[in-house]
Amino acid sequence: MKLGRNTAAELAAEIMTRPPRSGRSRIVAIDGQSGAGKTTFAAELATALLELGASVDVVHTDDLLDGWDDQFTFWERLQSSVLEPLQSGEAGRYHRYDWIAERFEDEVTIVHIADVVIIEGVSTGRAAMRQRADRTVFLGVPDALAWERLKARDPAEAMPFLRVWKERETRHYAADHTAELADVLITTGRISDMTTPSLSVEELRAAVERELPGVRTDLERLARIPGIAFDGFDFTPLERSAEAVAELLRGCGLDTRIVRIGDGHPAVIGVKPAPPGAPTVLLYAHHDVQPVGDLSLWESDPFEPVERDGRLYGRGCADDKAGVMAHVAALRAFGSGTSDDRLPVGAVVFVEGEEEFGSASLPDLLAEYKETLRSDVIVIADSGNWDIGVPALTTSLRGIVNLFVEVKVLEQAVHSGMAGGAVPDALMVLSRLLTTLHDDAGDVAVDGLVKTGAAPLDYPEDRFREETGMLEGVQLVGTGRIVERLWTKPAISILAIDAPPTSGAPNAVVPTAKAKLSVRLAPGDDRRRAYAIMKAHLEKFASWGAQVEVTFEHDGDPIVIDATGPAYDAARAAFKEAWDGTEPVDIGVGGSIPFIATFKETFPEASVLVTGVEDPYAKAHGPNESLHLGEFAKVCLAEALLLRNVAAL
Ligand SMILES: [Zn+2]
Repeated sequence: MKLGRNTAAELAAEIMTRPPRSGRSRIVAIDGQSGAGKTTFAAELATALLELGASVDVVHTDDLLDGWDDQFTFWERLQSSVLEPLQSGEAGRYHRYDWIAERFEDEVTIVHIADVVIIEGVSTGRAAMRQRADRTVFLGVPDALAWERLKARDPAEAMPFLRVWKERETRHYAADHTAELADVLITTGRISDMTTPSLSVEELRAAVERELPGVRTDLERLARIPGIAFDGFDFTPLERSAEAVAELLRGCGLDTRIVRIGDGHPAVIGVKPAPPGAPTVLLYAHHDVQPVGDLSLWESDPFEPVERDGRLYGRGCADDKAGVMAHVAALRAFGSGTSDDRLPVGAVVFVEGEEEFGSASLPDLLAEYKETLRSDVIVIADSGNWDIGVPALTTSLRGIVNLFVEVKVLEQAVHSGMAGGAVPDALMVLSRLLTTLHDDAGDVAVDGLVKTGAAPLDYPEDRFREETGMLEGVQLVGTGRIVERLWTKPAISILAIDAPPTSGAPNAVVPTAKAKLSVRLAPGDDRRRAYAIMKAHLEKFASWGAQVEVTFEHDGDPIVIDATGPAYDAARAAFKEAWDGTEPVDIGVGGSIPFIATFKETFPEASVLVTGVEDPYAKAHGPNESLHLGEFAKVCLAEALLLRNVAAL
């Protein structure tokens, strides 16, 4: 087998389209079995690069080995004397090993700050090399051919050493998954696969632009299907919306099926395997929507999407059918499923069908399809951005504990003229008890609930008042920055009270009263602990010995995502590009998406990115939900760029 000249030329051209990861030199690592032709290929690649006008230096790691037994210590030398200097923009310098004299030369060999520095034969450093190199190349050849080459190259006396060497090498490559993890795998003298999107940022911009009209049409088609997973609704539309989503994914070339657990609602899973060496990205969204509530509050039919002032109105137009379509848009931008398919990553699209009703079967779905869904990066497109024009990654969400508190004072109602003044009524007791939950400033006054600090973001009070529709003269409650009150401090809301209705209420002392409370937990708190604290507080502070019964409804832990590392950097770079240079911010969400914790627990090794299509005016869950179409275009581009960036990690 002769490595084709074309292969090196193609790879050289591809390398030069990429800026260096750090420093001024692009580092290209070439690895492969002994006898695979690493040195030859390195020379061919160097020639091809020189022909493109690039400056090149080549380092052979054999020159850094300390004799035959050294497949380990050379890595330290390579790292400190070549890689680290180059990455900080300085020339590398090392002592070459003299294989005849069996010692390192005194003379210093310089590694120039070239456009490309080729590291040939990195063997044992491969896993570590992936963190460093701009491109990793693995040459694979059949064992017999490799031996033939070695015999032709080296003297017979070297064969026993080579045999030991190759055994170790093979074991190491297997353990390190070197071949699978390389960016470029060359097995036949041609580049069989390259994980780089051959699409540039500009090409992706154009591709997303090209796809948007079709994406919009499909979004409207999805939004016309009233798939609601709440009890009491007709569930047949959910089947139709799952079908529609499946069809979209099949159109992107994904191996797609509709799945469910027991009598759960249909979820859709579409899979496209990763090119060799490329990561896999899971793209999550949900196709069910919230009920529409009071229809008279809608300005147009919730299930007939309509555009007004650059926004698309309709139930699910934002939450979360636009999330589904952002995934589809990104896949289409790469031509996924077409004859010119340049999707650089593996994709698993997972579209749930009962998120709005609590994702009851999600843990079982994740368990059942764990291997299918396993991925390196998980993108959960069900949140939103900080503002129109300001992208965000959601990195914290509050937890939730919902509970009921019931107070009892009498066996039954008694005449308020006969007993009032001596018998406390249940509503008095309940009212007094509820006032103990907050202090005069409106901060939560229950001892023991966790409070933390939020990112230094300024949420202008005017904007907050407008977004929430607060009435004139009503003051905000709580202290501290608004983002802290919303994201990183606990909140207790009194959701409802069961008591006699005012119309027709008799003159009687009320014997029992019940309230439903919703406690939002700050990141770092624990739902079970918080419930115990609430229960103890309510039992302790009931006045006049009234009987108190606290019962649990449902809960979810708060979530904090440590958004550091390459996947998060890749996402931030994509967002910045899509929003024309605006840096994304890390935001919290006051609400709870408990299923994110389920993803994190199921796939602890994956990076979880919580993104989304909503903006502060989207009114998800409310009447007149809408999607900002200009922002949606940016969301689609950002997701395509994200896939591109993740592929290059
Ligand atoms: Zn949602």
